[in-house]
Amino acid sequence: MKQLVVIGGGVIGVTTAWALAEAGHRVTLVEREPALAEGASRANGGQLSYRYVSPLADAGVPMKALRWLMDPDGPLRFKPDGSWAQWRWLAAFLAHCRAEVNRQTTERLLALGAYSQRCFGELHQRAELDAVALRTPGKLVVYRRPGEFESVARRTLTGGPEQALSQAECLALEPSLADGRGGDWLAGGIFTAGEAVADCHALCLQLGDRLRDHPNFEGWVHATALDFVCDGDRVTALRTSRGELGAAGFVLAAGLQSAALAAPLGLRLPLYPLKGYSLSAPIEARHRPPQVSVTDFERKTLYARIGEQLRVAAMVDLVGEDTRLDPRRLAALHRTVRATFPNAADYDRALPWAGLRPATPSGAPMLGATPLRGLWLNVGHGALGFTFSFGSARILAELISDRASPIDLTGLQLRAA
Ligand SMILES: Cc1cc2nc3c(=O)[nH]c(=O)nc-3n(C[C@H](O)[C@H](O)[C@H](O)COP(=O)(O)OP(=O)(O)OC[C@H]3O[C@@H](n4cnc5c(N)ncnc54)[C@H](O)[C@@H]3O)c2cc1C
Repeated sequence: MKQLVVIGGGVIGVTTAWALAEAGHRVTLVEREPALAEGASRANGGQLSYRYVSPLADAGVPMKALRWLMDPDGPLRFKPDGSWAQWRWLAAFLAHCRAEVNRQTTERLLALGAYSQRCFGELHQRAELDAVALRTPGKLVVYRRPGEFESVARRTLTGGPEQALSQAECLALEPSLADGRGGDWLAGGIFTAGEAVADCHALCLQLGDRLRDHPNFEGWVHATALDFVCDGDRVTALRTSRGELGAAGFVLAAGLQSAALAAPLGLRLPLYPLKGYSLSAPIEARHRPPQVSVTDFERKTLYARIGEQLRVAAMVDLVGEDTRLDPRRLAALHRTVRATFPNAADYDRALPWAGLRPATPSGAPMLGATPLRGLWLNVGHGALGFTFSFGSARILAELISDRASPIDLTGLQLRAA
């Protein structure tokens, strides 16, 4: 049993605190906001996308990015934010835009996804998470460009977990796709049964409640983590806005802010905010929302029914640490959504939100030990933090309990910025 402090109360911090408490450790959670999951975990796409994990960095993406940047309703925005960090991250991202690198990272993320799926099943039962709007409708990734679809369909193995579907088969599986211009914009799709959807915010809150009742949970400290106290190469305490917390180990799970907390220790974490938007639109009896979870590959837009709401999540904006709602981006999102699923929900009453994905250039998170004894990382989950949180949390719990990682962590550990 170790005395541990987890820094950050987003989905990564909450699941980590739970996994550590379950592994028999005494755990304290430090979160600066008055409530859990007010950062990137607040209103994300809700996809538990265990198999659709290919990172953004891939061969051909730099050329596609130019096309996207020229389209006013395109999924990508770039604005220099005046920092070296942005250029450094971009240069590293471009270096990862190679087919072989993408293939390797995808393989590692598939292993993490499969493990996370198993861990979620166990957690869901053990913590009796009955208020998280969980559904398992499968995921349909739709393609607008015939060339793009044909190339993906050719690589989709017959009899494997993914199924290539023609335009007509997509419309048969998800009839609401025909509501936008009869579905004529659609070239085809790839369907994966078993992919799930849930409400990430609700899950953080319910797991937070379960954690409060856990015999190994020491409590939740509402404070801002400021910096670490070290004795040689060992981290011995965390200084916070409400005093110092000593412990045997500290897990940095503060999303994007983890980089600023690690920097004074000489650890440069290659994290950059990829800003995204979401809409949560109420579904009434007159609406026809998609039942399967749909990803529009070209527009980088996801649609999922979460309870009585349609959650639409989209866009990758490299504009620095800025969570303001840009009215032009929201207008573009509304145009896309209304053209694609015109009858799915009441878009006039949709709640807009923007969040910052804590992304590494490769798209792979960083899990495990650091060169400083007593300091552990669970950071950089980018576009798939909800999906990977359950597996990442358990991996941290195994490592901190001096056991081997349940999956190979090659490519999933601390990498230099
Ligand atoms: C538009 C959008 C859609 C997305 N869709 C999906 C999806 O469909 N599926 C999926 O798997 N993922 C999705 N993601 C990604 C996912 O939301 C993130 O990867 C995940 O929420 C990151 O969790 P986190 O706990 O690392 O960060 P956060 O949720 O940001 O949590 C970090 C926490 O640390 C706290 N903190 C920071 N600094 C300090 C400090 N100094 N002291 C104390 N506390 C501190 C913050 O207040 C915050 O609560 C999406 C993200 C966005 C933006």
